Amino acid sequence: MQIAMYEQKRISLTEEFPKFTSREIAIDQIKKRGQKRAYTCPFCEEFLTLRAGSMNEPHFAHIRGKSCLMSQAYEQYEKQINRESSNHSVIRDVIYDDLSTQGKYKPDLKVEHGFQAKLKENWKIVPDIVVKKGSQEFGISILTNVHQKGDENLVKLIRKRQKYFKEKELDVIWFVEDRELSVDLTYRVLFLWESEILLTSKTPWDCKWENLVHELSINDTYPLHEVFNYHGRTELTNDVRSLYYVNSNQDEITFSVYRMILDELNSPYRAFAISTGYNIQLSEALVIEDQLRLANDDLEERHMALFRSDFANALHIMMQEYKETYVPNIIQKSASLSPQTRVAKQKTVRKIKEDLEVVHWDDGTVSYLINKLKRGYITEEDVIKLEYYLRHNRELVVFKGWELRDIQAMATSALGRIDDPKVRIHLVEIEEL
Ligand SMILES: [Zn+2]
Repeated sequence: MQIAMYEQKRISLTEEFPKFTSREIAIDQIKKRGQKRAYTCPFCEEFLTLRAGSMNEPHFAHIRGKSCLMSQAYEQYEKQINRESSNHSVIRDVIYDDLSTQGKYKPDLKVEHGFQAKLKENWKIVPDIVVKKGSQEFGISILTNVHQKGDENLVKLIRKRQKYFKEKELDVIWFVEDRELSVDLTYRVLFLWESEILLTSKTPWDCKWENLVHELSINDTYPLHEVFNYHGRTELTNDVRSLYYVNSNQDEITFSVYRMILDELNSPYRAFAISTGYNIQLSEALVIEDQLRLANDDLEERHMALFRSDFANALHIMMQEYKETYVPNIIQKSASLSPQTRVAKQKTVRKIKEDLEVVHWDDGTVSYLINKLKRGYITEEDVIKLEYYLRHNRELVVFKGWELRDIQAMATSALGRIDDPKVRIHLVEIEEL
């Protein structure tokens, strides 16, 4: 295995090697220390030595050549996470520590590493973490390196793991590292990889959203997704699902949550964005009730209220439009309207959305503007756009991972660099939002 206890700390070879000037020296030194009993097994405390031959990757082995059961389980897990980025273990350990801390004051809560929890049952595949709450049990799995390259293989791997967990009757929540997700809120569309589709979950808040979707879908003439300007490729269900991204930057880990209704399950994959997504702090996301909370209740309520009012406003305009365009008795189901009418309708919906409190721009535009501000070289045109966007959306506090106060701090620092009074006016406005 790659890990050992050394001077009372758990170390791993991948982290140790770079501390030496060359790989040969590292192997030589670690071998020597091992022969002098410097390393022990984190599980059974037996002494470990370094094995480094031409056939195998350097690894620690038990001194009597017989490894303990736990280290065997760990070795199997090491193979399982071989494809992951170095962030994987960082994210896993932070989540594990946070949940373990909760376990200290919740007597019915037990948090274990997956390989540890399933050792006796000898599971071939394990989630990274297993949480037991009373009689309930669920797993947490983190996936990194989720992108187009290798999507096909990853899809196979995820299917295999999900099938295995299903057979074992274990619910698993998946976290995907970073945001591979691309959203365009003008059309309420999420563009996804197939692997991301597979990793969606169903949580209590998804069920609440489902009720709302159901309530607003009563009217057949105006399907919900059309009112929201989403171009469905198939008949959409009411099945709301969520996708959790985990972002690790420097020493902070945050989660972001997206709720969606999946569209046709064929490439290119897309989904109807139900909520517009937001960030949650670790301490908030990982609160264990019956399941992980994974939501900010307050923000969810606000997003729901907004969804309801966006719907009402857009529907009102659509109905006005129909009254003007058609004699009542030839109103058809909107799905069968001619292309020209559909275009006209979209324009109206978009125009109205700009009059609403919240404006939906695609993430690309927003992060482009924020990055300009961050670098302190923002033009008058761009700063006007950014101020407009922030002013309309400040209730939501979702700006591609930045909170409003971060952006305000960027405005303050840009004021120190930018002399143009036309730009400065707007920077001050942003500071004072
Ligand atoms: Zn051992």
